[in-house]
Amino acid sequence: MKLICIGRNYTDHIKELANERPTDPVVFIKPDSAILPKDQDFYIPDFTNDVHHEVEVLVKIKKVGKHIDERFAHTYYDEVGLGIDFTARDLQSQLKEKGLPWEKAKGFDGAAVIGKWLPKSDFPDVNNLKFSLFKNGEEVQKGNTGLMLWKIDELISYVSRFFMLKKGDIIFTGTPAGVGRVATNDYLAGVLEGQELFSLKVK
Ligand code: ZN
Repeated sequence: MKLICIGRNYTDHIKELANERPTDPVVFIKPDSAILPKDQDFYIPDFTNDVHHEVEVLVKIKKVGKHIDERFAHTYYDEVGLGIDFTARDLQSQLKEKGLPWEKAKGFDGAAVIGKWLPKSDFPDVNNLKFSLFKNGEEVQKGNTGLMLWKIDELISYVSRFFMLKKGDIIFTGTPAGVGRVATNDYLAGVLEGQELFSLKVK
């Protein structure tokens, strides 16, 4: 399976990193080895001094599809979740400067936190989901899927033009503002519509 990640999908986060507003979704892939095993602590890797948390709404693909029409995109997933796209920001900045791929900064072991899944049917509108990340009890990131530049169905349709979607693939839909550095002993918890879907400690 693969993790398909969307960058720059919230205007407020584009501003905080002084990035250009994209004309198409920014897409990258994390390998399945990036998934942090359930209930395991996150270890800051030795090649970075600046790992950032990016809390993101997740969508789990339930069947094979390519060139999916936006009208049918909603039939390709039944579950939504919440996770973290951990990013070695210092390494990513160096790579971006040189025009090199981001994989080392985004796809390293443990860089993908995947929380508990919830049925999409629990929610009246997936385009109006509130979510937050708490660091040591303080709310550091706060978003709503209604503020995405590209909505979930548009993302499914768009990425399926390039990558065949397979059952079990997960889409990371982008992070809102408030990304920041994590430090040893930080405790992170992600909440979607009032439900805590993951928590972990940074080592
Ligand atoms: Zn991200």
